[in-house]
Amino acid sequence: MDLIGPDHKLYDVLRKPALPQFDNIRPAAIARCSSTDDVTEALSYARATNLPLTPRGGGHCFAARSSTTGLMLDLSPLSTITVEPAGALATIGAGARLASVYQRLHEYGLTIPAGCGPTVGIAGLTLGGGLGLLGRRYGLTCDRLVAATVVLADGTVVTCDAEQEADLFWALRGAGGCQFGVLTSLVFAAVPSPTATRFKLTWPRSHAAEVIAAWQSWAPDAPDDLTASLTVNANEAQIFGATLTEFDPGPLATLAPEIDLRTDLSWPALKASLSEGDPDTRIIHSKSEFFRNPLPPDAITQLLNAGCELNFTPMGGAYNRVPADATAFAHRNERFLLEHAGPDRNAIRRSWSIAHAYASGAVYPNFPDPDLTDWPTAYHGPNYSRLRDIKVKYDPGNVFSFPQSLGGPK
Ligand SMILES: Cc1cc2nc3c(=O)[nH]c(=O)nc-3n(C[C@H](O)[C@H](O)[C@H](O)COP(=O)(O)OP(=O)(O)OC[C@H]3O[C@@H](n4cnc5c(N)ncnc54)[C@H](O)[C@@H]3O)c2cc1C
Repeated sequence: MDLIGPDHKLYDVLRKPALPQFDNIRPAAIARCSSTDDVTEALSYARATNLPLTPRGGGHCFAARSSTTGLMLDLSPLSTITVEPAGALATIGAGARLASVYQRLHEYGLTIPAGCGPTVGIAGLTLGGGLGLLGRRYGLTCDRLVAATVVLADGTVVTCDAEQEADLFWALRGAGGCQFGVLTSLVFAAVPSPTATRFKLTWPRSHAAEVIAAWQSWAPDAPDDLTASLTVNANEAQIFGATLTEFDPGPLATLAPEIDLRTDLSWPALKASLSEGDPDTRIIHSKSEFFRNPLPPDAITQLLNAGCELNFTPMGGAYNRVPADATAFAHRNERFLLEHAGPDRNAIRRSWSIAHAYASGAVYPNFPDPDLTDWPTAYHGPNYSRLRDIKVKYDPGNVFSFPQSLGGPK
């Protein structure tokens, strides 16, 4: 393990997370971990020095949970990806980022259903669920997890899967981010890397109300092979996504969009095509919720007047064919996720309140929201009490803690 203090030339590079609003959080030290033994050593160092600790994968947490004033475990050197082609099993180091996962697995004609941000970490994404363009076809990223190696707070290394430490394996699939231990590698049952069509349908913002109305009664029920998200910003409404079959705009065709299709893209190329352009370095806040019913027209009008960017993600498909208690991820009956985003926190809270009246009350654990009062129900639903028991079993000293963690803050 390399211990990096504030005077080290890499300190500022490594400590800054993906979201610039958390740049000011300065760890006492950074433990750079290149192996499972390094993680054990880092945990032992934190115990000896009485420092709070947190692991960092890709550093994209909306609630800064991978930043700390204590010991930050930088797992980025743990990024090896190996593939066993016969069983389509991919073993991915906990520091790997999504773009390299897609690229490496594609060499074997494989992929996993996962998110779009190229620098999002595989570990954080999987531990909170994992939504992406193949999710309606193959489920959450965590639904493809078949095993994980975990270093517990006392330094014990365990492998968990459906047979060994099965309750830990259950809990990691949807509620595992910095809750039970530090994952060092994840094994996935990979799926074929498809050739696909990327589509973008764009309208002027003046059409946004009718586009939202059409989207919410179409995208959640579309065939599993099609995932269409919707973004409404100050200038336009855009539906974008991927289909594994020929693109059919369904009822959207009658709304006369400008259509941009790219056909026959490899899966890594399709993913890359959705993050082209300069990276967004603005400070953006967000709040979100899941919905089981469409928003009525008057709520849509109010939302469009609230001034936030609105991001709609379809659920349904394979996401909802898994029982709510099969993994820790409880939200298996939702139609879509709506995120309100922008620079102004108060505008976001107002926008969220308008939609909240129609929401299911469930919140995606990977989009944590410090404002939530009943967060146990919002994140974990009926799985909360089982998760509490598993927390006590695997982290009895509550070493892994943060304000909305299963063991509570210290
Ligand atoms: C630009 C952007 C794009 C996104 N796109 C998507 C998307 O397409 N789909 C989607 O579902 N979500 C998406 N998200 C949300 C994303 O899933 C979460 O932010 C996720 O937690 C990021 O994981 P990370 O490893 O990058 O983050 P980190 O901040 O490193 O980690 C998140 C949490 O997991 C913990 N953790 C990290 N590694 C480990 C480990 N090895 N062991 C134990 N705990 C660990 C951290 O301590 C922290 O609590 C996006 C977020 C951003 C900012």
